[in-house]
Amino acid sequence: MTQQLTLALSKGRIFEETLPLLKAAGITVSEDPESSRKLILPTNDPDVRVIIVRASDVPTYVQYGAADFGVAGKDVLLEHGGEGLYQPIDLNIAKCRLSVAVQEGFDYANAVRQGARLRVVTKYVNTAREHFAAKGVHVDLIKLYGSMELGPLVGLSDAIVDLVSTGGTLRANKLVEVEHIIDISSRLVVNQAALKLKRERLQPILDAFEKASKAK
Ligand code: ATP
Ligand code: MG
Repeated sequence: MTQQLTLALSKGRIFEETLPLLKAAGITVSEDPESSRKLILPTNDPDVRVIIVRASDVPTYVQYGAADFGVAGKDVLLEHGGEGLYQPIDLNIAKCRLSVAVQEGFDYANAVRQGARLRVVTKYVNTAREHFAAKGVHVDLIKLYGSMELGPLVGLSDAIVDLVSTGGTLRANKLVEVEHIIDISSRLVVNQAALKLKRERLQPILDAFEKASKAK
C-alpha cells in the first residue's frame, strides 16, 4: 500500500524557501500558490500533495494530522507550544529575529529601571509575556494581527514585539530595536503518529531536507 503524504506550507517566503529543499527530495510542486487559487497543490509525486495555509495555522494542521508534516517559523512554534509535534530539523530558512522596539527618543532602559508599566503590542503574546516576566519588566500586552509598528506611532503602546530582519520597516517608522528576544528560523514539524505509521515514506524526505538545509 502506498502512503499518501500531505505537506503544510504557507504562501510567500516559506513556500519559496522550501521549494529547493523539496527539489533535493525529488519533489516539485506543480502549481504556484501566488497565481493559483487552489489550496491543495499536486506535486510530481502522485503520493505527495501540498496544502497552503496561514503561517500560524501550520502547527495546528500538523498537530491534528490533517497534514503529515509542515514548515513553520520558530516564532509560530513558540506561540503555539509545539504540542503533538515532532520537530526534527532546523531548516535554516526564513531567518530573522524577534525583538522589542520603541519609538526613537523613548528611553526604554530608563522606563524599565523605574519599574514603569509598559504597554506592548504584539502578535506573540505568549512569547512576549514570558520574555518580560523573565526580565521582571511590567507589561500590559495588547494583541494585534499585523502592522505592529503603528502601535507606538498612534499612542496605542510604548513598545512592540515583532520580527525584524533588515530593520528597514522599523527605520521607515522611526522605531529602534532595544532588545533581541530570540533568533528565528523555520523548522520542519512532523505529526507524531505519521512519523511512526508513514516512516518508510517520510524518512527519505526528512533526510534530504536535513542534508539540503545543512548545505545552506
Ligand atoms: P499571515 O500573513 O498569515 O498573518 P505572516 O505575515 O506571519 O502570516 P509571513 O510574513 O509569510 O507570514 O511569515 C511567515 C514566517 O516567516 C514567520 O512566521 C517567520 O518565521 C518568518 N518571517 C517573517 N518575517 C520575516 C522576515 N522579515 N525575514 C525572514 N523571515 C521572516
Ligand atoms: Mg506577513
